[in-house]
Amino acid sequence: FPVENIRNFSIIAHVDHGKSTLADRLLELTGTIDKTNNNKQVLDKLQVERERGITVKAQTASLFYNCEGKQYLLNLIDTPGHVDFSYEVSRSLSACQGVLLVVDANEGIQAQTVANFFLAFEAQLSVIPVINKIDLKNADPKRVEKQIEKVFDIPSDECIKISAKLGTNVESVLQAVIERIPPPKVHRKNPLRALVFDSTFDQYRGVIANVALFDGVVSKGDKIVSAHTRKTYEVNEVGVLNPNELPTHKLYAGQVGYLIAGMKDVTEAQVGDTLYLHKQPVEPLPGFKSAKPMVFAGMYPVDQSEYNNLKSAVEKLTLNDSSVTVHRDSSLALGAGWRLGFLGLLHMEVFNQRLEQEYNASVILTTPTVPYKAVLSSAKLIKEYREKEITIINPAQFPDKSKVTEYLEPVVLGTVITPDEYTGKIMMLCQARRAIQKNMVFIDQNRVMLKYLFPLNEIVVDFYDSLKSLSSGYASFDYEDAGYQTAELVKMDILLNGNIVEELVTVVHKDKAHSVGKAICERLKDSLPRQLFEIAIQAAIGSKIIARETVKAYRKNVLAKCYGGDITRKMKLLKRQAEGKKKMRKIGNVEVPKDAFIKVLKTQ
Ligand code: GDP
Ligand code: MG
Repeated sequence: FPVENIRNFSIIAHVDHGKSTLADRLLELTGTIDKTNNNKQVLDKLQVERERGITVKAQTASLFYNCEGKQYLLNLIDTPGHVDFSYEVSRSLSACQGVLLVVDANEGIQAQTVANFFLAFEAQLSVIPVINKIDLKNADPKRVEKQIEKVFDIPSDECIKISAKLGTNVESVLQAVIERIPPPKVHRKNPLRALVFDSTFDQYRGVIANVALFDGVVSKGDKIVSAHTRKTYEVNEVGVLNPNELPTHKLYAGQVGYLIAGMKDVTEAQVGDTLYLHKQPVEPLPGFKSAKPMVFAGMYPVDQSEYNNLKSAVEKLTLNDSSVTVHRDSSLALGAGWRLGFLGLLHMEVFNQRLEQEYNASVILTTPTVPYKAVLSSAKLIKEYREKEITIINPAQFPDKSKVTEYLEPVVLGTVITPDEYTGKIMMLCQARRAIQKNMVFIDQNRVMLKYLFPLNEIVVDFYDSLKSLSSGYASFDYEDAGYQTAELVKMDILLNGNIVEELVTVVHKDKAHSVGKAICERLKDSLPRQLFEIAIQAAIGSKIIARETVKAYRKNVLAKCYGGDITRKMKLLKRQAEGKKKMRKIGNVEVPKDAFIKVLKTQ
């Protein structure tokens, strides 16, 4: 393929605006997949994606398209829309020259539309605005055009109006890709320079690296070197994703495809790495900003004998998702485990779900925490901490106030887009979350864009749910990292009959300790089954109790309903009760169902 007939592009949008559906239509139009009535989000291959109806992992597909007698190769990279996965988006963009910015004709510009646009803009990509869902009864493409002009400064006549669902006008999207996105700037005569922009792990074939070739050619049998590790490999297979792997003889500069080269160890295929030919070293391509975890949680096997299985599952999964950071950790109560860093709570849930579904692992997760910092008073520099300013990703290691001159908490710049009628309520919500307003603009007659500086810990868990429910689902939210600010923080323990619950140790703002402690106790009360004795649930700061709830004693007799002598039924019930016990964790003498902790975190 001549380079001038290649286009590399991505589809970006707010969640649910129709990226994956548009990708389906493009795959059909180019004959990549058969046109049937049930092609639904074919690029969403993961089980969790299908269940949640969201795209988690970017996917690549190479499309062949004939236009005015010329054949084009269009490499499409579908991306996730949710804020937690914006790292995937920026990675995908590094392999592209242009994007389709999809906006729902009914909902208009939303918070992630703005965030994703700026990622593309900063990467200096051509942006093609596509207004989707024009078939909807309440579609108002004219209004969306005006928003696009106002917020992104893109003339309204550049917008393409389509219905991805019905296929209306989708052909002109392909036309625009060819006309408005430039071919990649590459040199095939130069020695190989390939960017690893994604990688997946296959149990049988090892690492499958997704590569974009900036220079040169790579063929099966070539010896290649990783610029990152300096290790040499022999290429076993190259090919394009169509969207399933289709082996080819070679990959040329300008192409996007996959490469298998016997990389087995999870650390070998670093995303952002440059590959070159043996004895022909090149300047590595600029890598990526490494993903910055926003939320940390401890992860432990339910049963310590499962440690090694869980370890290998975590390693494999982190290869598929290099934005998760992993440190070994251990706890007296929970044994050996890890402290994992995630981009957000959804990311954490998805990771957990993938562990359970794809690797059949069962884990205990501790309360998520944001990365706090503490500046230690130098006179009392404590041996266990090497530096003056430390980052605390484990609340159990939160240093006492007597050793600290200042605590710091991470902050983010949040964008809220909402119909005007909810502005008042939203401002109150933001205030309750200790946020500071930075900006407010109307993006059309009755839609407002608000900017707030939020402490990260105030939005990590449930801000989004609260925002959605008080705006009847109409407000959207996105945020970016904005550094640190001073904060008065305290460590809070939750006790069950006097024993600390390791899963629930948490760091909170001083002013919020009382209300957060009370809420956790109340929620824990609701999710604890009654036991043979009374259970005291307490929240404490140091030795000071700040909240308390009690669960009354109760004898649960599973056989009570079984009158008569049906022995098999009795056995079944007893067996079921025994199985139920397996999912319990014992804290002191109290049995806690494993999912109680998750419930405590979620419903606020
Ligand atoms: P993504 O999250 O951006 O990938 O969005 P999806 O492609 O998964 O689409 C989200 C929802 O919008 C799905 O229920 C689609 O069927 C629906 N949808 C996508 N495009 C259209 C369209 O043109 N018209 C209508 N009415 N619905 C659409
Ligand atoms: Mg999708």
